[in-house]
Amino acid sequence: MVEGIVIERAGQKITVFVPEKNKSYRGIPLGKVKKKDKVYAGDKVKGRIVDSESFAIEVIEERKNLLIRPPIANVEKVVIVATIQNPPFQSFLMDNLLVVYSYLGLDTVIVFNKIDLLDEVGKEELQRWYTIYKNAGYKVIKTSAETKEGIEELRRELLGAISIFAGPSGVGKSSLISKLTGKELRIGEVSRKTERGKHTTREVRLIPFEGSFIGDAPGFSRVEALNFMEKEEVRFYFPEFLRYQCKYSDCLHLNEEGCEVREALKKGEISCERYKNYLKMTKEFVPWLKEVCD
Ligand code: GDP
Ligand code: ZN
Repeated sequence: MVEGIVIERAGQKITVFVPEKNKSYRGIPLGKVKKKDKVYAGDKVKGRIVDSESFAIEVIEERKNLLIRPPIANVEKVVIVATIQNPPFQSFLMDNLLVVYSYLGLDTVIVFNKIDLLDEVGKEELQRWYTIYKNAGYKVIKTSAETKEGIEELRRELLGAISIFAGPSGVGKSSLISKLTGKELRIGEVSRKTERGKHTTREVRLIPFEGSFIGDAPGFSRVEALNFMEKEEVRFYFPEFLRYQCKYSDCLHLNEEGCEVREALKKGEISCERYKNYLKMTKEFVPWLKEVCD
């Protein structure tokens, strides 16, 4: 059997990309597949090439995951795009996106785009945030969709994976995807509403390029961690906190005795910006914050 990947699902139409042929076919689900649940973009399939146009789908492999927004199966990576200027950086949004996507089991890559536009102050800010996220343990890439700086590094990072792009509008998600894949996009296009006020189901496509796939619809542009998880769980998604062993294993890194995260904060090993966002995200307060972080 030949392996393929569903790159488009629009109504009854299924498009299967077959890497070994570097070609797309119309997917035809065979009887036993048809009865099973829906087919999604991102589904890995096995089957036969029937003719130059058609691929008979015999098996849909078990999904690793299924994202709702955008509806794509087997997403491995999310590129969270931000800018320092034009528009200004929102670290609270960034940290929420990082927490929620790692909670959803995706690998995260931070991209600071539009570096060609930065003035002197902007360049310093970029370096500051770059270091903060690097030290926290994230993969961070600086790019310009305009000058193509960093695009190769980003391309390497996405190799072999199904990825989506997330982040606020205007930061350059569609521009980056176009530069990476050579395809113009409809991303950024807000889903239209039907007369009854319901969102029309948007079709999602995966764009294949050099053994990788990128979803052509954006992920979250804003999220709140507490809509996804309990307050007590948020701490597990700040990777830099996990390096420390507090006296109590259920330490929330607030006012507990023997909290090593607080000690690390005092020593400057953990960034105050990140910690303040942790407090804001969990709607907590600590009386010693000013003393340690100002
Ligand atoms: P999206 O809403 O995140 O998809 O952002 P777009 O890709 O639509 O980009 C928003 C605007 O920023 C467009 O006018 C792009 O041409 C511009 N833009 C995107 N990336 C860059 C960049 O790296 N440098 C500069 N100077 N402009 C960029
Ligand atoms: Zn602690």
